[in-house]
Amino acid sequence: MGADVKNNVSLRPYTSFHVGGKAELLAETDNEANIIELLDTYKEKQVWLLGYGSNTLISDKGLPGLTICIRGGDIKVNETMIIVDAGVWWDNVVKASIEHGLWGAELMSEIPGSVGAALFINITAYGQSIGPLVEWVEIWEPKSRKVVRISKDELTWSYKKSIFQLPEYEGSIILRAALKLSKALKEQLGYQKALDVADELNLDATSLTDRRAIIIESRERAGSIWSPTIKNANTVGSFFRNPTVDENQLDAIIAFDETGKTNNQVKKMNSVHGGQHNRVSAAHVMLAAGFRRGQSWKNVKLNDKNLLKIEALDGANAADIYKVMRHIQDVCMEKLGIKLEPEAQLFGEF
Ligand SMILES: Cc1cc2nc3c(=O)[nH]c(=O)nc-3n(C[C@H](O)[C@H](O)[C@H](O)COP(=O)(O)OP(=O)(O)OC[C@H]3O[C@@H](n4cnc5c(N)ncnc54)[C@H](O)[C@@H]3O)c2cc1C
Repeated sequence: MGADVKNNVSLRPYTSFHVGGKAELLAETDNEANIIELLDTYKEKQVWLLGYGSNTLISDKGLPGLTICIRGGDIKVNETMIIVDAGVWWDNVVKASIEHGLWGAELMSEIPGSVGAALFINITAYGQSIGPLVEWVEIWEPKSRKVVRISKDELTWSYKKSIFQLPEYEGSIILRAALKLSKALKEQLGYQKALDVADELNLDATSLTDRRAIIIESRERAGSIWSPTIKNANTVGSFFRNPTVDENQLDAIIAFDETGKTNNQVKKMNSVHGGQHNRVSAAHVMLAAGFRRGQSWKNVKLNDKNLLKIEALDGANAADIYKVMRHIQDVCMEKLGIKLEPEAQLFGEF
């Protein structure tokens, strides 16, 4: 067997929350042949997929069956096309694109995690998403037990959604993808906080390398940098997806925007980044429901700057985080009639 399979391994170090129980079986690999061999050998077992665990809350009861942790792989750049394996750390793709003078991924600098998860989630930051860059994705398909290529025309992307989250793709494993970038600047940088950083540091928002520096500094300031080797707060970034609200709720929620934009400007930003003018910030919803930055419950806390980041403090377990998640959902529903859905993936029994 190409990949080493271990029994009863704690999954805490495999996630950014640093909570959760044990994997019955755990294999870490960067290669397709190993993944397929594992799937054949453990055909009867339930399979869980992890990249770098930066968007996953794993139950304290652990995960039955086989957990495959896909980390590592190759990046090939050919003209404007980047072909990349699923286990590659996403930011290495951004770095490669910038080294080759390619635009289209730079605003997604330093989003933690693997390429496979980036596609599964459809990662987004500062007005860029991975979805529109994708030419094709190769997956291992459970029905045929074969590797198939899905072309751009068969793929649909929306705010933090990909077809890989649909029930018909359950059990599919993303193996690699081709991303098409551009030799010319595409998107304007429209985020005021990032533009302020550019001004302050005298960086040029129309230069590719400066843009990366602007985004990294903006992310540093927002507490949005994480990697398995950087010790930062234990979070999964934004815990909840931005919800859509009805027209009556819209202006009341937008009133919690503190950037000084008018309601119409915020609606325009919502349309650009969330696909709908009424997709409001989940942080604004939480503020409207009465939650506060820095609020804490025993060993779970809302980040001091961004209350969408739920932090696991020392001694926290997955059940504590789950309880806070449910509490926030219940209060937002009770007070505002708004359903907040986790962006974080919940694995195992809660
Ligand atoms: C500090 C911080 C900041 C963040 N900022 C952002 C941000 O700005 N924008 C943003 O979009 N996200 C952000 N996130 C969330 C996170 O970085 C992304 O969701 C990222 O894509 C997760 O990658 P991962 O490899 O760690 O995923 P994991 O948590 O390991 O997995 C996430 C999901 O992807 C699935 N998956 C993983 N690999 C594969 C595969 N090969 N095939 C099929 N499914 C797979 C898993 O089964 C799971 O359901 C942030 C997280 C943190 C901790």
